[in-house]
Parts: sequence; C-alpha cells; structure tokens
Amino acid sequence: MNIVIVGSGIAGVTFAEKYRALSPDAEIVLVTCEHDGYYSRPLLSRGFTKTDIEQSIILKGFEKLRENNIDVIAGSEVTAIDRNAKTIAIDGPGQEKSLSYDKLILAQGSAAFVPPPFRPFEKLFFSLNSLVDLKAMRKFRQPFLSQNKHPHWAVIGGGLIGCEVASDLAVAGDKVTVYHAMDRLMERQLVAEDSASLLGVLQSSGIAVLFNQAVHGIVEEGGKMCVETDVNTEFDAVIVACGFKPRTELAQQAGLDVGRGIKVNPYLQTSDEAIFAVGDAAELPDGKLYAYILPIRSQALWLANYLAGQEQVAWSPAPFSTKAKVHGFEAGHPYNL
Ligand SMILES: Cc1cc2nc3c(=O)[nH]c(=O)nc-3n(C[C@H](O)[C@H](O)[C@H](O)COP(=O)(O)OP(=O)(O)OC[C@H]3O[C@@H](n4cnc5c(N)ncnc54)[C@H](O)[C@@H]3O)c2cc1C
Repeated sequence: MNIVIVGSGIAGVTFAEKYRALSPDAEIVLVTCEHDGYYSRPLLSRGFTKTDIEQSIILKGFEKLRENNIDVIAGSEVTAIDRNAKTIAIDGPGQEKSLSYDKLILAQGSAAFVPPPFRPFEKLFFSLNSLVDLKAMRKFRQPFLSQNKHPHWAVIGGGLIGCEVASDLAVAGDKVTVYHAMDRLMERQLVAEDSASLLGVLQSSGIAVLFNQAVHGIVEEGGKMCVETDVNTEFDAVIVACGFKPRTELAQQAGLDVGRGIKVNPYLQTSDEAIFAVGDAAELPDGKLYAYILPIRSQALWLANYLAGQEQVAWSPAPFSTKAKVHGFEAGHPYNL
C-alpha cells in the first residue's frame, strides 16, 4: 500500500505514525509546506509570554518521522491532484515533481478566515494561525522591546483566538485593544455569565474591549496602523482574529465535494473512494467541523485503524471539552462546541 498524506499538523502526523505502527511494509509519504517540524498549534497563543516558544513549540522534528520510516517532503506544497492517474503534483524548493498514491489523506488543516472587508488590506495586519505567523509577530515586537517599549495592538475579533492572543500580549506587557462585532466575548462558546467574567479578566490585564464594532478598514499612516470605525484610532499593529477557514481549494480543483470543509462520509472518505480527509479540513455528514485537538486525534487514529483493516465501525466523536487559554480565566459552565 502506498499512502500519501498532505499536511503535518496533528491530523497528518498522528495518522502517519499510527499507520506506520500497524503496517510496517506500507510506503508512507507525508508532504508539507512546513519547514520547522511538527508543532503544537494551540501553543501559538502562548507565543509572547513564553520566551523559548520557537523551540519549545516543536513537538517532533521531521528527522524523527524519517527515522520511523515516514518519508517527509518538507517545505513543499501539493498543488494538484490527478484522480484518474492517482498522482499529486508537488511544488518544492527548486523542484516540481509528481507522486503516485493508492490512498491519499488530505490533512490540510485551516487558514485564518479573513472577512471580505479586510481582504484589500491583507499586507497591513497579522493573523495567528501558524508558526510562520507567530515568528513574524515576534520579529515585529523585537525593536520595541530592544528600546524598553511595548507596541500597542488592535485585535479585531473577540472569539477564542482573539481573546487568547490579546491576553498573552497583555500579560507580556503590551498594550491591547480588542474590537468585537458582538455585544459579548466568545458568544459562540460561552454562556453570557462566563463572557462577563472573561471580560473582567481581560480588563484586569489592562486590555480595552470595544463591543458592537463595525471595522470598515485599516489604513497605514506614517508607520502607524489606523483602524477605521466611526472614529479612527492609531495602533502600532493590527491582528485579525475572525475564525478559521478549512483548506478546501485543492480538493475543489480536483472535483471533490466540498462545503465549508472537504465533505466526507462517516468513514472519513471523500467523494473519491481513494481519498480521505481528516482534521480541520474535513466536514462530516452532520455538516460539522471538528476543529479541536481531541476529536482530530481520534479521527486520525480511527482512520489508520480502518485503513489497516482493524476497524469496521464508522468514526463517531466521543464527548470532548476544551478551554480558552486566557491567563487567569476559568469558565463556570461547559463550552458550547
Ligand atoms: C492560535 C490557536 C490556538 C488553538 N488552541 C486550541 C486549543 O487550545 N485546543 C484545541 O483543541 N484546539 C486549538 N486550536 C485548534 C487546533 O490547533 C486545530 O484544530 C488543529 O491544530 C488542526 O490540526 P490539523 O492537523 O487538522 O491542521 P493543521 O495543524 O492546520 O495542519 C495542516 C498542515 O497542512 C499543511 N498544508 C496545507 N495545505 C497543504 C498543501 N497543499 N501542501 C502541503 N502542505 C499543506 C499546512 O501547512 C499545515 O502544516 C487552536 C488553533 C489556533 C490557530
């Protein structure tokens, strides 16, 4: 069996390692855009208070996977799938090549969702979705810190990631203002009482939170970033944290069924029987995306067992919970996930 995996997040790496353990003779190739190894995405939100983050976030170097007989093609993007020939096209450093598969696993994760009004300004703001993003933000902060100063950030979005990044920046000493479109924080996950207690925690870290905000645009003026609402306010930098978008483009170009994510049946199989999807990128038949670590790990382990012939019953999510990594905040009620 020749298995090709696209993506080196928890979905791709967990699948690869489990399948390797179950099928010692299989050929396993993992293709990824990443350069730095397999890292913990949740830890990105501790990227400013944890000084050694650029090393400590790496859970496993790609060398470790190669030692386990998983062929990793790093720093390379899968640009097309030819379903008739059962090949993928790869664009890597200085080379383009094609690779054949018996089974293809799409574990491509998600990108930061940028609402349409902000798309023309994409060069003017940060998102926190990958280690590359975090490194760019840390690099931006460095000149301020070298002069014993701290930047003033605008965070657009008071959802889970917006609150986490705002909290970590503030605890690291930066000035932060959160713009939220709704009238309470993390309204999708928290009951109103917990939103209110979260607000108190953020405010006690010195964060200004503005509700019912419609941001029209972002403009650069004399090295400052101006956030445009009814009033215009200047910041050193802006972060857009408005949710995530499953990476579906590759699947769509290959003619697979996509909705919000890559549509799969209860066996995590796409509309092509040789292609499967797991993790943030996969949309289950109930229309749900299970974009959290615990169900993704469960999907990846289940799929490895299934393809190795050791599982017949369809994947179903076990109950799981999560919590916002906001310094000093504990919700009093279960999250709505
Ligand atoms: C800041 C932040 C904090 C979070 N905190 C939590 C938390 O506390 N708890 C929790 O449960 N979840 C949390 N999450 C969500 C969780 O991290 C994700 O659900 C999970 O990491 C998704 O894993 P994945 O393997 O599906 O995708 P990803 O981790 O996104 O990995 C996908 C990989 O595929 C690669 N790729 C994509 N397309 C291609 C291509 N065409 N060719 C080659 N490579 C490609 C990407 O570069 C990427 O490396 C957080 C997410 C973020 C961004």
